[in-house]
Amino acid sequence: MKALRPRQGERTGGPVPVGTSPPEAGQGADEDAREAVQVLDAADVFPALRSSPQGLTSKTAGERRAADGPNELPTARRRPAWRQLAGQFTDLFAIVLMTASAITFLAYALEEPRQAGTAQLAVAIACVVLLNAAIGFAQEYSAERTAQTLQAMVPHRCRVLRDGRPGEVPVQDLVRGDVVVLEAGDTVPADCRLVEAHDLTVNNAAITGESEPVPRTAEADAPGEALRARNRVHMGTDVITGTARAVVSATGQATEFGRIYRLTAAAPRQKTPLQREVTWMARRVSLTALAVGLLLFAVRLPTGQGTVSSFVFALGVMVALVPEGLPATLSVSLALGVRRMARHQALVKKLVAVEALGSTTVICTDKTGTLTQAEMTVVRIWAWDREHTVTGVGYEPSGEVSDPGPVRALLRSAALCCDARLLPPSDGAHWRVLGDTTEGALLVAAAKAGLDMAAEEAAAPRTAEHPFDSVRRLMSTVHEEDGTRRIRVKGAPLEILNRCTRLDDGSAALELTADRRARAAEVADRMAAQGLRVLAVAEREVTGPSEDRDRDERDLTLLGLAGMMDPPREEVRASVDSCRRAGIRIVMVTGDHPLTAEAVARRVGIVRGDHPKVVTGAELDATDDTALDSLAAEAGELLLCRVSPEHKMRVATAFQRRGEVVAVTGDGANDAPALKHADIGVAMGASGTDVAREAAEMVLLDDSFTSIAVAVRLGRAVYQNIRKFLVYLFSHNIGELAPILAATFTGFPLVPITAVQVLAIDLGSDVLPALALGAEPPESDVMERPPRPRHERLFSSAVVRRILFLGGIQALGVCAVFFWHVSSSGIPFADFTADDPVYREAVTLVQAGIVVSQFFNALAVRTERESVFRAGLFSNPRLIAAGLIGIAFMAAISYLPLLQSVFHTAPLSAGDWALLTAVGILPLAADELRKMRLRARHTPRPEGDVR
Ligand code: ADP
Ligand code: MG
Repeated sequence: MKALRPRQGERTGGPVPVGTSPPEAGQGADEDAREAVQVLDAADVFPALRSSPQGLTSKTAGERRAADGPNELPTARRRPAWRQLAGQFTDLFAIVLMTASAITFLAYALEEPRQAGTAQLAVAIACVVLLNAAIGFAQEYSAERTAQTLQAMVPHRCRVLRDGRPGEVPVQDLVRGDVVVLEAGDTVPADCRLVEAHDLTVNNAAITGESEPVPRTAEADAPGEALRARNRVHMGTDVITGTARAVVSATGQATEFGRIYRLTAAAPRQKTPLQREVTWMARRVSLTALAVGLLLFAVRLPTGQGTVSSFVFALGVMVALVPEGLPATLSVSLALGVRRMARHQALVKKLVAVEALGSTTVICTDKTGTLTQAEMTVVRIWAWDREHTVTGVGYEPSGEVSDPGPVRALLRSAALCCDARLLPPSDGAHWRVLGDTTEGALLVAAAKAGLDMAAEEAAAPRTAEHPFDSVRRLMSTVHEEDGTRRIRVKGAPLEILNRCTRLDDGSAALELTADRRARAAEVADRMAAQGLRVLAVAEREVTGPSEDRDRDERDLTLLGLAGMMDPPREEVRASVDSCRRAGIRIVMVTGDHPLTAEAVARRVGIVRGDHPKVVTGAELDATDDTALDSLAAEAGELLLCRVSPEHKMRVATAFQRRGEVVAVTGDGANDAPALKHADIGVAMGASGTDVAREAAEMVLLDDSFTSIAVAVRLGRAVYQNIRKFLVYLFSHNIGELAPILAATFTGFPLVPITAVQVLAIDLGSDVLPALALGAEPPESDVMERPPRPRHERLFSSAVVRRILFLGGIQALGVCAVFFWHVSSSGIPFADFTADDPVYREAVTLVQAGIVVSQFFNALAVRTERESVFRAGLFSNPRLIAAGLIGIAFMAAISYLPLLQSVFHTAPLSAGDWALLTAVGILPLAADELRKMRLRARHTPRPEGDVR
């Protein structure tokens, strides 16, 4: 990325009007205050930005929102409509057809005598180009709209202090002076001045292009460039580590990002591999068409047919072969897949994900929230040396701790070391947690033990903190109380035990002997084996001047353990089963304890065997890439526990090296590299961080594993549907081409189907059925088959064979009908003229023959191996309707005098239609036989076979 650093001094001449608006009515008025805000001490920032440490009142916030407008940037600049439209005329089809039209017109002009038919053809082809462009434009436009709507569905909220209370607001509602709470993984919602920061680093890549995280503090800085100020953070940049509080200094377009945003053009849209393959194929076919057309022209010219008639002939061949409707149909079916997935809570941000999903072979999934409900409840507490139980469910603080006395100290420390907040029910909802659910559970348990945390926090104010991080798996806070300072640490039991040297037994601090340590570890394992998430809590008094994390988090005194329940999501088990049957391997990746992980994995069906392979992060560290590759190669159940996001990335890469298509879920800021690297990065919409959502290709609105499984199913269906309409569209090309070639070789002087007729089929009667095929619901057995091989071409040999099979039968039928009709008239071939009624009837029969046979062809391609009658002939009513519309169109061409003269057709008799139906149904019948054989050959795999 190119550095887009603003030049110094640009701001003053910038786009924000200065001094013209009254003090409360615009951001310009605060311009000077904003310029100076970085030189102030944290405490002076509040008055400078007309805020207070308690945040704004809702009333002030509302007024500023009304005055400044929403905190958002105008939607990405789109390509102007005229350019989108013009683009439609520059693709290869359009150029080929426009050239054809121009040459036809030239031929008409040079012809002696001039023939109206040639001019009509030229106009018809030009109309086709226009029509095709209009369809393409409409589809592109609607696809873009879909993408925008979906983008708007990705949740975007931020944490603020309003009326002295912490809460959440949509990012758009943020105003100057708001006090925001930032933590790792957040995207900074507006330009802010920091007033409190702990271990804070931000990544300014979005603005400056530098990808190295830079530290930020709340201390006063020298005057200078805002982007360089060490106490400012800017809209659109990412918080990588730490936590902070900051006061908003500018919102919306007045931010640095807003200013730069107007300078950058919208990124070009990229074609997916699928689109590229189809474009490539279509191009090849077009070139072939051109070559074949020229060849036939050259063959016919010396036979004394006349230049114009030979040209018209060659043109017929060309337009017969060019798949005009294809690219548009492809975009529509991809967009449709995206919309269907969104309806099932899976937002696809990039089209590539749709096709990658269909070929997914491995899913590396998080545990908490994805497989489980993330509704944590502390149910067991252990303090030397007794277990206590806690009653009640959810976040409502009602329930009891059995004998709460001995565990109060533990719960008090645990709750003091939390950043989350409990939110009482508002308008009839449940109690909610703002922030980490693990911490929410601890707060609830503290309340159940009778602790008033507001009072406790006031008595022991926090002076420092070292935020939770999934690599260290613990966090700590330092508190000032009764003239001493104490550090409180909570985290994964092993990490905490390693830092403890003592043990609190309720009255005194005992030495943590090897026996006692083993005892504590044993209790933690026992809780974990029951599927509980276990946290250990420890503390000690700290002395010394500064907060040094590594020095303070040593020689701790263990207070005890808390075990919390996180019930599995009910719907997940069925989805896990369906992924298994679909040959997809599920690997659980969690920071949690191996025993907890295994217990949860068993409950959701990821683990069924007696000996799943459990690998911890520490073991992964000791494993080199070769060993990792063989681990990935081993079939069977795999659980990765106590791992950090880097491990996740390594494992996903190992799978990719084996050629697997890997979907990886993630929610934290440091999951971003793994999400980007995976074939499909899946982020959590409800609980995930902004950074993860930005890096992902897909966002799960409900965080559930089930949504991934549904998306895979729909992704497979999209791919299959594309193949269906490819077979449908290409097979009739054979039906169009065959009679023309046959005419050349049998010495029949005229074309059995004219170019205008071919266009009427390709862009008339065939378009709607192709679209309806793109909208087919997934076949019932899509998830019963193994994933499609990664490098399989869209036009696999199976697809090509099917095109030849169906197209061949259709071609035979159409040729038979044509030659039977012209021969039975008794006229010698050489004597046929274009105005002969028999010839007119014959070409009508050919066109109608293709239309009718395409109707049945569309039914045949609907399923790959299942009988269409079993799938339900009418289960896609749109397809039937589209086919009937095509036949009605054909009837109009055959019977309406106006259309008769354009298409050179004649009225068909009832007998003709009966004949065409009998011939047209042949591809369907033959395909049913083929499917029957296929089903007899492959019996379904036995249940429970993993891969
Ligand atoms: P996962 O999301 O896979 O369940 P995490 O990385 O969130 O795993 O957590 C790993 C371990 O870190 C947990 O088992 C727990 O012991 C500990 N832990 C999780 N959240 C917190 C927190 N907010 N404070 C302290 N420790 C935590
Ligand atoms: Mg987690």
